Amino acid sequence: MTVGAPGSAPTCTGDVAGADLGETLLHEHIFVQQPEVDAALPSPEWDEQRAVADAVALLDGLFRRGVRTVVDLTVPGLGRDVALVRRVAEASPVRIVAATGWYTHNALPAYFRLNGPGRLIDGPDPLIRMLVDDLTVGIRGTKVRAGAIKVVSDVEGLTPDVRRVFEAAAVAQAETSAPVFTHSHAPSRGGLEQQKVLRALGVPLERVVIGHAGDSDDIAYLTELASEGSWLGFDRFGMEHTAPDEQRIRTLLTLLERGLASQIVLSHDAAAFSRVTPPSWRRRHTPSWHMHHIHDDVLPRLRREGVDEETIRTMMVETPRRVLAGA
Ligand SMILES: [Zn+2]
Repeated sequence: MTVGAPGSAPTCTGDVAGADLGETLLHEHIFVQQPEVDAALPSPEWDEQRAVADAVALLDGLFRRGVRTVVDLTVPGLGRDVALVRRVAEASPVRIVAATGWYTHNALPAYFRLNGPGRLIDGPDPLIRMLVDDLTVGIRGTKVRAGAIKVVSDVEGLTPDVRRVFEAAAVAQAETSAPVFTHSHAPSRGGLEQQKVLRALGVPLERVVIGHAGDSDDIAYLTELASEGSWLGFDRFGMEHTAPDEQRIRTLLTLLERGLASQIVLSHDAAAFSRVTPPSWRRRHTPSWHMHHIHDDVLPRLRREGVDEETIRTMMVETPRRVLAGA
């Protein structure tokens, strides 16, 4: 199945050739929402017009810092609203790649539990149809095709519903060759279980980014993940409540010394607005957890530690291009 020109990546504002993607943040969020909660209990911090304007200003700041593309890994389960994100993309010089998948640590909505092969309402798996349509036809209500598949497992491990999302992702990946991004639980070395199940499902591990690997400082774990061919997401800079930046940087420097630059990508897992961890909380508790942090603080620090420009370009430009647009 074709999904746009080979060597290009779909974005909210059209396909972009791999060579034009430029500096890229591979794991961010524009708007994390909780639609049913928001409807019943609106956030006092949410104002749609202001949120769009704030997100555009944030991306303008990224553009001034050299970033050209951001991957928004907000999938259903996290309140994905691609029509709203596209408004941000249309007003910004930074392109946004949308994602498909389903965000859950344990259970899918009741609809999926009762609808699907061998279930009460027996038929083809609607989750597979959703992922494939998002990647090939476009996300409902938009003409935007997803350019990434997101799967999640956390401390609960591969519950039956989590496994079902992985199975749907594997079918969608085989049909489209889209990259798979995971949310993994680093303290329990969860990336290894993700690799095991994805490999068994036929997903090439060199098309997989093990997200949140950088929460770990276990060099043996991280090098084992890398030896299977996957990319490692050092994708939570500034997220001090899961690991301190100092630890992330020391671990990253060790892996760079071991020659793993081409398998590491840097991002923040930050959000322009999140209902779950609202702006007021972030300002108070995680002041560095925002999308400018890598350029303002982390890259200058890496340069002071002796990391050269070629290595930074590999992590910020070349590897993201391979992830999003293939070799
Ligand atoms: Zn994320």
